[in-house]
Amino acid sequence: MVIAQRFGEGHRVLVTGGAGFVPSHLVDALIGRGCTVVAVDNFITGAKDNLGHLADNPRFTLIEADITEGLPAHHPAIAERFDAIMHMASPASPTDFGTIPVEILRVGSIGTLNLLERATADGARFLMASTSEAYGDPLVHPQPESYWGNVNPVGIRSVYDEAKRFSEAATMGYHRSRGTDVAIVRIFNTYGPRMRPDDGRAIPTFISQALRGEPITVHGDGSQTRSITYVDDLVRGILMLLDSTETGPINCGTEHEFTMRQLAEKIIELSGSSSTVTFIERTSDDPEKRRPDLTLARTKLGYEPSVGPDEGIRRTIEYFQTRV
Ligand code: NAD
Repeated sequence: MVIAQRFGEGHRVLVTGGAGFVPSHLVDALIGRGCTVVAVDNFITGAKDNLGHLADNPRFTLIEADITEGLPAHHPAIAERFDAIMHMASPASPTDFGTIPVEILRVGSIGTLNLLERATADGARFLMASTSEAYGDPLVHPQPESYWGNVNPVGIRSVYDEAKRFSEAATMGYHRSRGTDVAIVRIFNTYGPRMRPDDGRAIPTFISQALRGEPITVHGDGSQTRSITYVDDLVRGILMLLDSTETGPINCGTEHEFTMRQLAEKIIELSGSSSTVTFIERTSDDPEKRRPDLTLARTKLGYEPSVGPDEGIRRTIEYFQTRV
Protein backbone atom coordinates (compact mmCIF):
# COMPACT_ATOMS: atom_id res chain seq x y z
CA MET A 1 0.00 0.00 0.00
CA VAL A 2 1.22 3.51 -0.83
CA ILE A 3 -0.46 6.56 0.71
CA ALA A 4 -0.47 9.51 -1.73
CA GLN A 5 1.00 12.74 -0.39
CA ARG A 6 -1.85 14.99 0.68
CA PHE A 7 0.08 17.90 2.21
CA GLY A 8 2.89 19.61 0.28
CA GLU A 9 3.51 22.74 -1.76
CA GLY A 10 0.95 25.46 -1.12
CA HIS A 11 -0.28 23.93 2.15
CA ARG A 12 0.05 25.73 5.48
CA VAL A 13 0.86 23.55 8.48
CA LEU A 14 0.95 24.59 12.14
CA VAL A 15 3.34 22.55 14.33
CA THR A 16 2.97 23.14 18.06
CA GLY A 17 6.12 22.54 20.09
CA GLY A 18 8.05 22.95 16.81
CA ALA A 19 11.37 23.70 18.54
CA GLY A 20 11.38 20.35 20.37
CA PHE A 21 13.28 17.20 19.48
CA VAL A 22 10.72 15.24 17.39
CA PRO A 23 8.72 18.27 16.18
CA SER A 24 11.81 20.05 14.80
CA HIS A 25 12.54 17.00 12.60
CA LEU A 26 8.91 17.04 11.52
CA VAL A 27 9.22 20.73 10.61
CA ASP A 28 12.28 19.89 8.45
CA ALA A 29 10.36 17.13 6.66
CA LEU A 30 7.34 19.40 6.01
CA ILE A 31 9.59 22.18 4.68
CA GLY A 32 11.29 19.54 2.51
CA ARG A 33 7.87 18.72 0.98
CA GLY A 34 7.26 22.34 0.07
CA CYS A 35 4.79 23.16 2.88
CA THR A 36 4.66 26.54 4.58
CA VAL A 37 5.24 25.84 8.27
CA VAL A 38 4.40 27.88 11.35
CA ALA A 39 5.95 26.57 14.57
CA VAL A 40 4.65 27.76 17.94
CA ASP A 41 6.73 27.06 21.03
CA ASN A 42 7.20 28.49 24.52
CA PHE A 43 10.66 26.83 24.78
CA ILE A 44 9.85 25.15 28.10
CA THR A 45 11.79 22.07 26.95
CA GLY A 46 12.61 22.98 23.33
CA ALA A 47 15.39 25.13 21.90
CA LYS A 48 15.42 27.80 19.18
CA ASP A 49 18.71 26.32 17.97
CA ASN A 50 16.89 23.21 16.75
CA LEU A 51 15.33 25.39 14.03
CA GLY A 52 18.18 27.91 13.60
CA HIS A 53 18.97 26.55 10.13
CA LEU A 54 15.49 27.62 8.93
CA ALA A 55 15.72 31.21 10.18
CA ASP A 56 16.01 32.66 6.65
CA ASN A 57 13.53 30.31 5.00
CA PRO A 58 10.57 32.33 3.67
CA ARG A 59 8.26 29.31 4.14
CA PHE A 60 9.03 29.08 7.85
CA THR A 61 7.88 31.16 10.84
CA LEU A 62 8.74 30.50 14.49
CA ILE A 63 6.49 32.16 17.07
CA GLU A 64 7.17 32.20 20.80
CA ALA A 65 3.86 31.58 22.56
CA ASP A 66 2.26 29.27 25.11
CA ILE A 67 -0.58 27.43 23.37
CA THR A 68 -2.49 27.08 26.65
CA GLU A 69 -3.05 30.86 26.41
CA GLY A 70 -4.59 30.44 22.94
CA LEU A 71 -2.84 31.04 19.63
CA PRO A 72 -1.58 34.65 19.22
CA ALA A 73 -4.35 35.74 16.83
CA HIS A 74 -2.70 39.12 16.12
CA HIS A 75 0.26 37.43 14.42
CA PRO A 76 -0.24 37.48 10.61
CA ALA A 77 1.04 33.90 10.28
CA ILE A 78 -1.61 32.74 12.76
CA ALA A 79 -4.45 34.82 11.30
CA GLU A 80 -4.31 32.91 7.99
CA ARG A 81 -6.08 29.53 7.63
CA PHE A 82 -4.15 26.27 8.22
CA ASP A 83 -4.56 23.11 6.16
CA ALA A 84 -3.14 20.91 8.92
CA ILE A 85 -2.45 21.34 12.63
CA MET A 86 0.04 18.96 14.22
CA HIS A 87 -0.21 19.09 18.01
CA MET A 88 3.26 18.01 19.11
CA ALA A 89 3.72 20.33 22.10
CA SER A 90 4.26 18.64 25.45
CA PRO A 91 7.21 18.01 27.71
CA ALA A 92 7.84 14.26 27.41
CA SER A 93 10.73 13.33 29.65
CA PRO A 94 10.13 11.48 32.94
CA THR A 95 12.14 14.12 34.80
CA ASP A 96 9.63 16.73 33.59
CA PHE A 97 6.78 14.74 35.17
CA GLY A 98 8.12 15.65 38.62
CA THR A 99 9.25 19.23 37.91
CA ILE A 100 6.56 20.69 35.62
CA PRO A 101 3.47 18.51 36.14
CA VAL A 102 0.92 21.32 35.91
CA GLU A 103 2.41 22.62 32.64
CA ILE A 104 2.13 19.08 31.22
CA LEU A 105 -1.51 18.80 32.30
CA ARG A 106 -2.34 22.22 30.83
CA VAL A 107 -0.75 21.65 27.44
CA GLY A 108 -2.40 18.24 27.14
CA SER A 109 -5.83 19.56 28.09
CA ILE A 110 -6.40 23.30 27.52
CA GLY A 111 -3.77 23.32 24.76
CA THR A 112 -5.39 20.39 22.97
CA LEU A 113 -8.89 21.94 23.21
CA ASN A 114 -7.63 25.28 21.86
CA LEU A 115 -6.11 23.56 18.84
CA LEU A 116 -9.12 21.35 18.20
CA GLU A 117 -11.29 24.50 18.12
CA ARG A 118 -8.95 26.10 15.61
CA ALA A 119 -8.68 22.96 13.43
CA THR A 120 -12.47 22.70 13.38
CA ALA A 121 -12.89 26.37 12.43
CA ASP A 122 -10.25 26.07 9.66
CA GLY A 123 -11.47 22.71 8.35
CA ALA A 124 -7.86 21.57 8.92
CA ARG A 125 -6.63 18.03 9.51
CA PHE A 126 -5.67 17.74 13.20
CA LEU A 127 -2.92 15.32 14.18
CA MET A 128 -2.48 14.54 17.87
CA ALA A 129 0.91 13.27 19.11
CA SER A 130 -0.07 10.71 21.71
CA THR A 131 2.18 8.18 23.34
CA SER A 132 2.80 4.57 24.24
CA GLU A 133 2.42 5.88 27.82
CA ALA A 134 -1.33 5.73 27.12
CA TYR A 135 -0.87 1.96 27.74
CA GLY A 136 0.70 2.63 31.17
CA ASP A 137 2.46 -0.44 32.57
CA PRO A 138 0.89 -2.79 30.00
CA LEU A 139 -0.53 -6.18 30.85
CA VAL A 140 -0.64 -7.10 27.14
CA HIS A 141 2.57 -7.49 25.13
CA PRO A 142 3.22 -6.26 22.48
CA GLN A 143 0.61 -3.51 22.67
CA PRO A 144 -2.10 -3.30 19.98
CA GLU A 145 -4.21 -0.12 19.72
CA SER A 146 -7.22 -2.10 20.94
CA TYR A 147 -5.58 -2.48 24.38
CA TRP A 148 -7.00 0.11 26.81
CA GLY A 149 -3.98 0.26 29.06
CA ASN A 150 -3.01 -0.01 32.70
CA VAL A 151 -2.38 3.51 34.02
CA ASN A 152 -2.08 4.51 37.68
CA PRO A 153 -4.23 7.68 37.65
CA VAL A 154 -2.49 9.22 40.66
CA GLY A 155 1.09 8.04 40.09
CA ILE A 156 4.03 10.32 39.28
CA ARG A 157 3.67 9.60 35.53
CA SER A 158 -0.08 10.18 35.47
CA VAL A 159 0.15 13.90 34.65
CA TYR A 160 1.59 12.90 31.28
CA ASP A 161 -0.26 9.63 30.69
CA GLU A 162 -3.67 11.00 31.62
CA ALA A 163 -3.16 14.31 29.78
CA LYS A 164 -2.44 12.31 26.62
CA ARG A 165 -5.42 10.03 27.24
CA PHE A 166 -7.56 13.14 27.73
CA SER A 167 -6.15 14.56 24.47
CA GLU A 168 -7.10 11.36 22.67
CA ALA A 169 -10.62 11.50 24.11
CA ALA A 170 -10.95 15.19 23.17
CA THR A 171 -9.72 14.46 19.64
CA MET A 172 -12.34 11.74 19.14
CA GLY A 173 -15.00 13.89 20.83
CA TYR A 174 -14.46 16.70 18.30
CA HIS A 175 -14.33 14.19 15.45
CA ARG A 176 -17.63 12.59 16.45
CA SER A 177 -19.56 15.72 17.42
CA ARG A 178 -18.09 18.40 15.14
CA GLY A 179 -16.83 16.34 12.20
CA THR A 180 -13.20 17.49 12.71
CA ASP A 181 -10.74 15.62 10.46
CA VAL A 182 -8.43 13.99 13.03
CA ALA A 183 -5.59 11.53 13.45
CA ILE A 184 -3.99 10.15 16.61
CA VAL A 185 -0.50 8.66 16.58
CA ARG A 186 0.77 6.71 19.59
CA ILE A 187 4.50 7.32 19.57
CA PHE A 188 6.85 4.75 21.14
CA ASN A 189 10.29 5.67 22.58
CA THR A 190 12.09 7.69 19.95
CA TYR A 191 15.68 8.92 19.93
CA GLY A 192 18.08 10.83 17.72
CA PRO A 193 19.90 14.13 17.26
CA ARG A 194 18.45 17.21 19.05
CA MET A 195 17.52 15.37 22.23
CA ARG A 196 18.74 17.27 25.27
CA PRO A 197 21.76 15.56 26.85
CA ASP A 198 20.29 16.21 30.30
CA ASP A 199 16.68 15.40 29.51
CA GLY A 200 16.55 12.33 31.75
CA ARG A 201 15.53 9.83 29.06
CA ALA A 202 17.65 6.68 28.85
CA ILE A 203 19.41 7.13 25.49
CA PRO A 204 20.65 10.73 25.90
CA THR A 205 21.60 10.00 29.52
CA PHE A 206 23.54 6.84 28.65
CA ILE A 207 25.29 8.48 25.67
CA SER A 208 26.28 11.56 27.71
CA GLN A 209 27.63 9.34 30.49
CA ALA A 210 29.48 7.11 28.01
CA LEU A 211 31.10 10.10 26.27
CA ARG A 212 32.22 11.52 29.63
CA GLY A 213 33.54 8.12 30.72
CA GLU A 214 31.18 8.17 33.73
CA PRO A 215 29.31 5.09 35.03
CA ILE A 216 26.10 4.42 33.06
CA THR A 217 23.20 4.63 35.54
CA VAL A 218 20.60 1.97 34.81
CA HIS A 219 17.38 2.02 36.84
CA GLY A 220 16.51 -1.14 38.83
CA ASP A 221 18.20 -4.31 37.63
CA GLY A 222 17.99 -3.15 34.01
CA SER A 223 15.70 -5.97 32.92
CA GLN A 224 12.84 -3.62 31.91
CA THR A 225 12.52 -3.33 28.13
CA ARG A 226 11.79 -0.61 25.58
CA SER A 227 11.58 -0.65 21.82
CA ILE A 228 13.55 2.23 20.36
CA THR A 229 12.78 4.17 17.19
CA TYR A 230 15.14 6.42 15.26
CA VAL A 231 13.51 9.81 14.74
CA ASP A 232 13.58 9.68 10.91
CA ASP A 233 11.44 6.52 10.93
CA LEU A 234 8.95 8.10 13.32
CA VAL A 235 8.65 11.28 11.25
CA ARG A 236 8.01 9.22 8.12
CA GLY A 237 5.28 7.28 9.92
CA ILE A 238 3.65 10.45 11.29
CA LEU A 239 3.55 11.99 7.81
CA MET A 240 2.02 8.81 6.37
CA LEU A 241 -0.74 9.11 8.95
CA LEU A 242 -1.18 12.83 8.19
CA ASP A 243 -1.55 12.06 4.48
CA SER A 244 -4.03 9.24 5.11
CA THR A 245 -7.69 9.54 6.06
CA GLU A 246 -7.25 7.29 9.11
CA THR A 247 -8.30 8.60 12.52
CA GLY A 248 -6.19 6.14 14.46
CA PRO A 249 -5.05 5.74 17.10
CA ILE A 250 -2.16 4.09 15.28
CA ASN A 251 1.07 2.96 16.94
CA CYS A 252 4.32 4.21 15.47
CA GLY A 253 7.65 2.75 16.50
CA THR A 254 9.84 -0.27 15.93
CA GLU A 255 10.03 -3.80 17.24
CA HIS A 256 13.71 -3.56 18.27
CA GLU A 257 13.23 -4.34 21.96
CA PHE A 258 16.13 -3.99 24.38
CA THR A 259 16.50 -4.41 28.09
CA MET A 260 17.90 -1.22 29.61
CA ARG A 261 21.04 -3.15 30.50
CA GLN A 262 21.53 -4.28 26.88
CA LEU A 263 20.97 -0.73 25.72
CA ALA A 264 23.63 0.59 28.11
CA GLU A 265 26.07 -2.07 26.93
CA LYS A 266 25.36 -1.29 23.26
CA ILE A 267 26.00 2.41 23.82
CA ILE A 268 29.29 1.64 25.60
CA GLU A 269 30.31 -0.58 22.65
CA LEU A 270 29.29 1.83 19.88
CA SER A 271 30.86 4.87 21.55
CA GLY A 272 34.09 3.00 22.38
CA SER A 273 33.67 4.19 25.97
CA SER A 274 35.46 2.89 29.06
CA SER A 275 32.30 3.40 31.18
CA THR A 276 30.88 0.63 33.33
CA VAL A 277 27.22 -0.03 34.15
CA THR A 278 25.88 0.81 37.60
CA PHE A 279 22.37 0.23 38.96
CA ILE A 280 20.30 2.89 40.73
CA GLU A 281 16.83 2.97 42.29
CA ARG A 282 13.94 2.39 39.91
CA THR A 283 11.34 5.17 39.55
CA SER A 284 7.75 4.30 40.50
CA ASP A 285 5.31 3.02 37.87
CA ASP A 286 8.18 2.60 35.39
CA PRO A 287 6.69 0.19 32.81
CA GLU A 288 8.22 -3.31 32.66
CA LYS A 289 7.82 -3.79 28.93
CA ARG A 290 7.08 -1.70 25.87
CA ARG A 291 6.80 -2.83 22.27
CA PRO A 292 4.24 -1.75 19.69
CA ASP A 293 2.09 -4.10 17.72
CA LEU A 294 2.64 -2.50 14.30
CA THR A 295 -0.05 -4.42 12.41
CA LEU A 296 -2.28 -1.35 11.93
CA ALA A 297 0.60 0.92 10.84
CA ARG A 298 1.64 -1.71 8.30
CA THR A 299 -1.79 -2.50 6.91
CA LYS A 300 -3.37 0.99 7.00
CA LEU A 301 -0.31 3.10 6.16
CA GLY A 302 2.27 0.76 4.61
CA TYR A 303 4.69 1.87 7.37
CA GLU A 304 7.92 -0.05 7.89
CA PRO A 305 10.78 1.25 10.04
CA SER A 306 14.12 1.17 8.24
CA VAL A 307 16.89 2.46 10.53
CA GLY A 308 18.40 -0.32 12.65
CA PRO A 309 19.46 0.37 16.25
CA ASP A 310 23.23 0.29 15.57
CA GLU A 311 22.93 2.83 12.77
CA GLY A 312 20.54 5.08 14.71
CA ILE A 313 22.59 4.99 17.91
CA ARG A 314 25.78 5.75 15.94
CA ARG A 315 24.16 8.83 14.36
CA THR A 316 22.95 9.98 17.78
CA ILE A 317 26.38 9.49 19.36
CA GLU A 318 27.90 11.63 16.55
CA TYR A 319 25.46 14.43 17.37
CA PHE A 320 26.21 14.24 21.10
CA GLN A 321 29.96 14.21 20.49
CA THR A 322 29.69 17.85 19.39
CA ARG A 323 27.71 18.79 22.52
CA VAL A 324 28.81 16.77 25.55
P1 NAD B 1 10.33 17.93 23.44
O1 NAD B 1 10.19 18.35 24.85
O2 NAD B 1 11.67 17.98 22.82
O3 NAD B 1 9.33 18.78 22.52
C1 NAD B 1 8.13 19.35 22.99
C2 NAD B 1 8.07 20.81 22.61
O4 NAD B 1 6.84 21.37 23.06
C3 NAD B 1 9.18 21.65 23.25
O5 NAD B 1 9.82 22.43 22.25
C4 NAD B 1 8.45 22.52 24.25
O6 NAD B 1 9.10 23.74 24.50
C5 NAD B 1 7.09 22.66 23.58
N1 NAD B 1 5.99 23.01 24.48
C6 NAD B 1 5.64 22.39 25.64
N2 NAD B 1 4.59 23.02 26.21
C7 NAD B 1 4.24 24.03 25.38
C8 NAD B 1 3.23 25.03 25.42
N3 NAD B 1 2.36 25.11 26.44
N4 NAD B 1 3.16 25.92 24.40
C9 NAD B 1 4.03 25.87 23.38
N5 NAD B 1 5.02 24.94 23.28
C10 NAD B 1 5.12 24.03 24.28
O7 NAD B 1 9.72 16.45 23.37
P2 NAD B 1 9.71 15.37 22.19
O8 NAD B 1 10.31 14.13 22.71
O9 NAD B 1 10.21 15.92 20.93
O10 NAD B 1 8.14 15.10 22.09
C11 NAD B 1 7.33 15.74 21.11
C12 NAD B 1 5.92 15.18 21.19
O11 NAD B 1 5.94 13.77 20.91
C13 NAD B 1 5.28 15.34 22.57
O12 NAD B 1 3.91 15.62 22.43
C14 NAD B 1 5.47 13.98 23.20
O13 NAD B 1 4.49 13.72 24.17
C15 NAD B 1 5.36 13.07 22.00
N6 NAD B 1 6.06 11.78 22.25
C16 NAD B 1 7.42 11.74 22.19
C17 NAD B 1 8.05 10.51 22.44
C18 NAD B 1 9.56 10.37 22.37
O14 NAD B 1 10.06 9.26 22.60
N7 NAD B 1 10.32 11.41 22.05
C19 NAD B 1 7.31 9.38 22.76
C20 NAD B 1 5.93 9.51 22.83
C21 NAD B 1 5.31 10.71 22.55
